[in-house]
Amino acid sequence: LIELRDVNKHYGTLHVLQGIDLTVDRGEVVVVIGPSGSGKSTLCRAINRLETIESGEIRIDGRPLPEEGKELARLRAEVGMVFQSFNLFAHKTVLANVSLAQTKVRGRKRDEADRRSRELLDRVGLAAHADKYPAQLSGGQQQRVAIARALAMDPKALLFDEPTSALDPEMINEVLEVMRQLARDGMTMVVVTHEMGFARSAANRVVFMADGRILEDRAPEEFFTAPRSDRAKDFLSKIL
Ligand code: ATP
Ligand code: MG
Repeated sequence: LIELRDVNKHYGTLHVLQGIDLTVDRGEVVVVIGPSGSGKSTLCRAINRLETIESGEIRIDGRPLPEEGKELARLRAEVGMVFQSFNLFAHKTVLANVSLAQTKVRGRKRDEADRRSRELLDRVGLAAHADKYPAQLSGGQQQRVAIARALAMDPKALLFDEPTSALDPEMINEVLEVMRQLARDGMTMVVVTHEMGFARSAANRVVFMADGRILEDRAPEEFFTAPRSDRAKDFLSKIL
């Protein structure tokens, strides 16, 4: 579903993505880990074309990423992204936050969008909060709204960039539980996270990045029990 071939990107003289090859099949959950500055966010953003690349190829469902316009908006609906900061509209209700892009991008009628939004809010455990404003919710609840909003686009895949790192510890699990459920339901997911428990329990593969390169791309049990690269051993010794 997601294919990257020899993808390269620089920021000035910094080679942030160095010949990245990555394939994510339909229904797969790939967790991306690695030290700060290794290029994890840049990789996610490139898949969603929030960043341009200089060379190489990125295909979604066999099609190259569109450059701009309607096609690009459609890509971003099909490959949704959930960020560390939830980016909800503060002056709109939870329901309106989830409905907005459905009417704008998917062309749904308002009542149809609202119906779908309520279903999704129920799915992330927030049915009772539809008419509140984001500031009235906890961080974990806001992040679940952001996930519902991404799901409302009927995405083919979801990218998560450190979705729980801005949350207080007691809220991390409620967000991870929603993500685990999505994984069980067959959603294709690329998840940048430091939550190794999630990686072990939900990932089909762990991709370890360092200095703009993918050094390991393996099943979680193998990666965690017997990392091959010194960088990965070093990284794991610091976080586990
Ligand atoms: P973290 O774990 O801290 O989120 P990361 O793996 O997500 O790190 P990236 O955000 O992808 O890393 O950044 C990779 C490198 O590119 C870093 O050295 C960063 O400073 C640099 N970088 C990122 N965005 C820009 C930008 N817009 N302009 C210049 N350099 C950038
Ligand atoms: Mg990052």
